Amino acid sequence: MSGPVLSPFWWEAAPRDLPSDPLPQTADVAVIGSGYTGLSAALRLAEGGVRVAVIDAGPLAAGASSRNFGLLGRQFVPHLADLAERLGLDRAVELYNLCNLAFAHVNRLIDRLDIDCDRRPAGRFIACATPRHLEAQKREHALRAEHLGHGYRVVEKADLGGEFGSPLYHGGIVVPEHLTLHPGKFSAGLARAVRAAGATLTGETPVTAIARDGAGFRLACGGTELRAAEIVIATNGYTGQLVPDLRRRIVPIQAYMIATEPLPPEVIRQALPTERAFHDTARDMIYGRPSPCGTRLLFGGATGERHDDIALAGEGLRRRLLRLFPHLPKDLALGHAWTGQCGGTFDHLPHRGQSGPLHYAMGYNFGAGMPLGTYLGDSLGRALLGETVELPLDALPMQTRPLYRGRPWFLPAYLAWGKLRDRLDGGRIAA
Ligand SMILES: Cc1cc2nc3c(=O)[nH]c(=O)nc-3n(C[C@H](O)[C@H](O)[C@H](O)COP(=O)(O)OP(=O)(O)OC[C@H]3O[C@@H](n4cnc5c(N)ncnc54)[C@H](O)[C@@H]3O)c2cc1C
Repeated sequence: MSGPVLSPFWWEAAPRDLPSDPLPQTADVAVIGSGYTGLSAALRLAEGGVRVAVIDAGPLAAGASSRNFGLLGRQFVPHLADLAERLGLDRAVELYNLCNLAFAHVNRLIDRLDIDCDRRPAGRFIACATPRHLEAQKREHALRAEHLGHGYRVVEKADLGGEFGSPLYHGGIVVPEHLTLHPGKFSAGLARAVRAAGATLTGETPVTAIARDGAGFRLACGGTELRAAEIVIATNGYTGQLVPDLRRRIVPIQAYMIATEPLPPEVIRQALPTERAFHDTARDMIYGRPSPCGTRLLFGGATGERHDDIALAGEGLRRRLLRLFPHLPKDLALGHAWTGQCGGTFDHLPHRGQSGPLHYAMGYNFGAGMPLGTYLGDSLGRALLGETVELPLDALPMQTRPLYRGRPWFLPAYLAWGKLRDRLDGGRIAA
């Protein structure tokens, strides 16, 4: 039997073969990175009449922006309650409101550009791994409802069957407003809009050095050079040595996903009766959803682990999926297995600002980059057009740690500690 295709399921319907322009010699703004952040910044700038050159080291829009789970939510990784403890309730609410703005921005953008990206009002189901997790989630969502107007519904353990086809959880929370979409189609749609607005997009061209050139910059790009007046760094989890100051502040976090072979609809419905996207509350989190065509299960986990062999990592996820949903056929085959890199930060919040003369937005951590990358990229574009764009995030410095230079040597110990704590509180599911 042949193994899974080792590239994202999303690339089947939206291949990464977007046309690539020759690198121009000059631009007003060079945008490094062609994911949501870079494309949104470029779109705003190009629509504002600025000459923009988007450059990517790989194929266009082939970073995390076309490899993710496709859940469009309005939340940060830290809970509102945790931020309120850190910063006070008023500031935490002000910060969290950014998620509302970002969510609305993406929806408006999809409508305005008429991007066909399988957007569905599927909702999010948060499966609670322990009774204590369920109580904490109830408190968190009551707080969000009170201060942010977010809707939610509690599912007690006794009612779990109507929502979720695994008996391993203690209940959960439904967040009905969250959406699912096809990240491959969304990122390709954005790239097309950027080109239509007049920007150039050049793939397979790593930027290897940036040097001052009078009032502007010279970018060394694989043997050729580009001169630009301003630079936007939109490299998130793929940030490398090009910008050492940002590399010290961003933690590359590898995440893994699989897509099953096509399955009969009733088998998928037994796992996910409401067709919602789900994730659980374990530190070693797992997550899943039906594919937009409704024929496959998409499933992810092992976040932060390092696997050189993606097929083997996929096999680990396949076994975990079988333990989660025991009704699935034991000989379940995989269609795809893939990985992508997220950008973690030490305060678990995204950041936008300037590193010396370079403008950047990054650090969406796991699971919030679709709305926040799109929104913060746009806000960078607006700022470069001369608008005053103040965000509550701007007051928070993007931290680093002593001895950290961009290689996350501490992640294995951090993950092992998380798994041990999951095990101790009974919340390590299907592992
Ligand atoms: C498996 C997985 C599941 C996820 N699920 C979700 C989800 O459900 N919802 C959600 O909101 N978010 C999710 N995320 C996170 C989200 O995908 C990212 O936060 C978001 O895509 C980041 O967008 P970006 O434009 O900042 O970076 P990216 O899309 O990663 O783009 C960065 C680009 O920079 C380029 N680059 C780097 N260095 C250079 C250089 N020197 N020269 C030229 N180019 C360079 C890279 O090639 C890359 O294409 C998930 C991520 C993964 C991996």
